[in-house]
Amino acid sequence: MIQRLRGNAVIAAHWLSGQRRAPFYPREKLDALRDRRIRDIVRHAARHVPYYREWFAREGIDPRSIKGAAELDRLPVLNKELVRAQPRLFVAENARRTLSFLTSGSTGAPVEIHHDHDSLLANIPHGERERDPVNRLCGGSFRPKELYVGYDTSTFKKVIAFYEQHTMLPVRPRRRTLSLTEPIERIVELANTERPDILVGYGGWVALFFRAVAARNLALRPPQLVMYMGEALPHGAREFIEEQFGIPVMSRYNAVESFKIGFFCEQRRGFHIHEDLCHVRILPPGQQGQVVISNLINRATVLLNYPIGDLGSISPVPCPCGRTFRVLSELEGRVEDILPLADGRHVHPRAVWQVFKDDREVLQYQLTQHEPRRFSLMLVTVDGPSFQRALERARPLLDRLLGADALITAEHRTELARVSGRKFRAVASTVPQTATGPATTRPPQGPGDGTASQTRAG
Ligand SMILES: [Zn+2]
Repeated sequence: MIQRLRGNAVIAAHWLSGQRRAPFYPREKLDALRDRRIRDIVRHAARHVPYYREWFAREGIDPRSIKGAAELDRLPVLNKELVRAQPRLFVAENARRTLSFLTSGSTGAPVEIHHDHDSLLANIPHGERERDPVNRLCGGSFRPKELYVGYDTSTFKKVIAFYEQHTMLPVRPRRRTLSLTEPIERIVELANTERPDILVGYGGWVALFFRAVAARNLALRPPQLVMYMGEALPHGAREFIEEQFGIPVMSRYNAVESFKIGFFCEQRRGFHIHEDLCHVRILPPGQQGQVVISNLINRATVLLNYPIGDLGSISPVPCPCGRTFRVLSELEGRVEDILPLADGRHVHPRAVWQVFKDDREVLQYQLTQHEPRRFSLMLVTVDGPSFQRALERARPLLDRLLGADALITAEHRTELARVSGRKFRAVASTVPQTATGPATTRPPQGPGDGTASQTRAG
């Protein structure tokens, strides 16, 4: 009981600070808040987190000289492999009450991340910022009804159990959960009878669902909005859904490494970054590059300048909605999705999308590169006979893209090919990016990042 009262007190303290207004703070106020949190977390890291304590000692840098976002660049860009291999280096030694989660491990073994209890509790009121534009698009409904197509991940279950134990709030939205292995027709039927305000699903699934509804001429009573999460939306899917169905497509950007990164507003131009909770940089700056995050809230696993594995760019112009939080572009697929060819060229996922985008018989495609010249193609098509037709149309285009000597084996699927627990990637490569030449998107190693560089080179 005392635990729950304390939990509620933490939540109330954050609520009182007016989370719904936070995205509209004047720029100076927001910068000051962000820089104060950066100073706090850097001092905490320098004192209690082994990796940072050693780094500051080795470099002879006074942590107090890190005054804000501008100086945060002086800290090394972390190597994900090091965090994966030695997670304890990044956990504060004074962290007492924590809960740990595993990253989805879409590109390798999962990483264990600890979150302190107060940061988990603060996550509830921080969610007000994200719920505000959603509720507005749902006609001002305070608790929109959700149809969630996915599965309860272990992270999701752990978070819910934690909130039930530590709070007395009705934190759960009105949500109906369906497995994404359910047939599309069954999901349409449920959407028509239950009339959810919001349809929620993974990016790859959302794209497939609406392609299938259109191709099979299913009568869908459209929800007020679609929310995709967990992975990037395949190219062209937003335009297709918004134009064909007239449903706004929204998204949130979150990760086990930082529960709050960004959210869509009514304008849907990209993710408004929770700048005071998670500092975001793009490397190299000024163009599309690696998304590098610093979680400013979590005092357990401390990750500063951490490349999360997505590509994006930050808009130089403010959003017309009035929110001052900067806007991060929609994510351009995973870094690893770029295909390194044997002749030294790199093929971007968008080029593969060009091959299939106008093919109405193709509901979903997945191209996997196994060796520089060996590929497998999986196609979900409207029906059996359409598979051969689609393949004949795609062949010459793929040969041109991947090289005439590329060996492509093709396979037909009738339903969604999603490996449980992994992000769907329309274009994937298992070829090491370094095997065929320079990796153009790797971030520069920060000063004093000796251990990490050695891991890479070795
Ligand atoms: Zn906006």
